[in-house]
Amino acid sequence: MRVDKAPQRVSRGLRSWCLGLVSGVLLLLPSLGTGAEESVRVAPGVRFTFEPADAPFVDHVLGIVREASPHLRATLGLPAADTIHIHIAPTQEAFLTYTPGAIPDWGAGYAVPDRRLVVLRSPRITGTYDGSTELVVHELAHVMLHSALRGVDIPRWLDEGFAMHMAREWGFWDRASLVVAVVSGNLVSLGAIQGVNTFPEHRAQLAYQESALAVQYILRRYGEAGLHTLFDRLRLTGSIDQACFDAFGVSIVGFERDWLAYMERNYGWRMVLGESLTIVIAPLFGVLCLLAFLQIRRRRKATLRRWAREEVDDWHSDEDDWRRKNEEWIMSRERDD
Ligand SMILES: [Zn+2]
Repeated sequence: MRVDKAPQRVSRGLRSWCLGLVSGVLLLLPSLGTGAEESVRVAPGVRFTFEPADAPFVDHVLGIVREASPHLRATLGLPAADTIHIHIAPTQEAFLTYTPGAIPDWGAGYAVPDRRLVVLRSPRITGTYDGSTELVVHELAHVMLHSALRGVDIPRWLDEGFAMHMAREWGFWDRASLVVAVVSGNLVSLGAIQGVNTFPEHRAQLAYQESALAVQYILRRYGEAGLHTLFDRLRLTGSIDQACFDAFGVSIVGFERDWLAYMERNYGWRMVLGESLTIVIAPLFGVLCLLAFLQIRRRRKATLRRWAREEVDDWHSDEDDWRRKNEEWIMSRERDD
């Protein structure tokens, strides 16, 4: 499971931006500090800075940006027109020092929303493109959200929840840890998620999952239109409580109570019983298959043994038959003689 364990948000205050999607322009500029050549690729709405060796990775990331942007824009429901800057850091040191104070998501990338900046590690450091889609969409979601909301304070659960909801699918084991938290009454309250930076890792992971599910809950209960209204009212009023009331007709306290009820419905005892059946039945089925296989093999061996015995018996009976007939023939000859 991959969950961002730390904030990537450094500060806020954004203008809107738009991610147009046409082919880019490639320029070569001297890089600051390193003296190495730095390439710049500009596509509508996005600008990359990178070392030439990372050009294939830039193609890959641009493909992700192009694919994810329409869905992100549709879910945001707000216009955004600023160009986003994606920097590919060539070394781990360059990654950590490109924006002093920024804390990477998953150690692999971070966003600085007020600069409309996303910094990613070169696959020359990581050795893989694995996970880049999830990471790029996550960071892009942060920057686009802040850009669309024009720098207002976004509650942490909504900020991370939106990024996480947009970036990934949720698997069985994600749900399992939530079930434990719901059943044991250990959920982190949405308000407390604001302090996620100070949480131990397992608690931070839970907080991020809950955040994603709070956004999922909004989408399921109020639809995309509800989320659009929440964002729009938050942009205009700067208050999550007011925005929540305007969008859903409940205070943020009422919203959290409803969300908790949703969590209990979907991740409480009912879910435990449903999943337990799966957990119990799946291995049981495996054991039954194994027993059936062993039984079949045992029977087949028994049959083979029986056939072997019968063949031997048949051979003996043939021999006996032959001996008897032979004796009868000899006796008849003696008689005739
Ligand atoms: Zn994040």
